[in-house]
Amino acid sequence: LADRISSWFVEFVVIVAVIAFIGWAVWGPEPRLAHALVSAVAVLIIACPCALGLATPMSIMVGTGRGASEGILVRNAEALELFEKVDTLVVDKTGTLTEGRPEGVAVEAVGMPEDDLLRTAAALERGSEHPLAAAIVRAAKARGLSLPSDVTFESTTGQGVHGGVGGARVALGNAAMMRASGVDVSAADSAVGALRKQARTVLYAAIDGRLAGTFAIADPIKAGARESLAALRAQGLRLVMLTGDARETALAVGAELGFAPDDIRAEVLPAEKRRVIEDLQSRGATVAMAGDGINDAPALSAAT
Ligand code: ADP
Ligand code: MG
Repeated sequence: LADRISSWFVEFVVIVAVIAFIGWAVWGPEPRLAHALVSAVAVLIIACPCALGLATPMSIMVGTGRGASEGILVRNAEALELFEKVDTLVVDKTGTLTEGRPEGVAVEAVGMPEDDLLRTAAALERGSEHPLAAAIVRAAKARGLSLPSDVTFESTTGQGVHGGVGGARVALGNAAMMRASGVDVSAADSAVGALRKQARTVLYAAIDGRLAGTFAIADPIKAGARESLAALRAQGLRLVMLTGDARETALAVGAELGFAPDDIRAEVLPAEKRRVIEDLQSRGATVAMAGDGINDAPALSAAT
């Protein structure tokens, strides 16, 4: 409203000053010109839009100051102004709604000792910055396993990691990663489905092109996430979950947090995350995005 008022405020004040000048100059007591001048200037001074001009920078200063004391850094004051218009909030799952510090890792090996599979997987994941990778490395350390060091490593954001461990070709990640490596995972389907319904994130491990096992990782929902989302919803925001994880896992987590099933977008790659945002915007939404990973970067930069 202040923006709209200030667009015609100055003209309005000048016109009032001119009317005052004419009024005092024509009908006022002598000395007419002096009275007219004083009245016109008085109108200009008293109606000076200082308050309006100061209101915006002042509230931004107070807002960023309060934010800083709560641990929120505002890099761009314009973003704060824009936030009032936001009607859709898109949130990443892993690391944003969930702790991103998964603890329980359940290993299921196919045709090899569990410890060997965990050792191989952890050796590969040591090079990855992903929270799931850290969970696997921690699990191996907890079992006191020593990790092989002749490792080559490559990571595909939003899918997983692959490379060589001690002469074996190893891939570790989601279904997309397995498809890309040509690995058939159907043997694990029913067990994996059941785990995902319990909100577990399941990673497949393949060695030399064959399924070698699965890792079911429990990534608890952040304390307070439920309440925060409810508060945002009560303000009229539409909430959308965006994750690279499997659909069943996303639905299980989403159900606990009150997401509408239509607003849960799962199995999306980083570039697709960006497209989801642009799609919402093309339908007229003003979109804010919250995410913690490299995989979220394209979507974060596309958000309003
Ligand atoms: P989110 O969008 O929920 O933050 P990501 O896009 O980071 O999730 O990851 C999507 C999926 O890709 C994960 O659920 C996991 O299956 C797989 N993935 C990603 N990085 C790794 C990794 N370093 N090791 C194993 N799997 C991974
Ligand atoms: Mg994430």
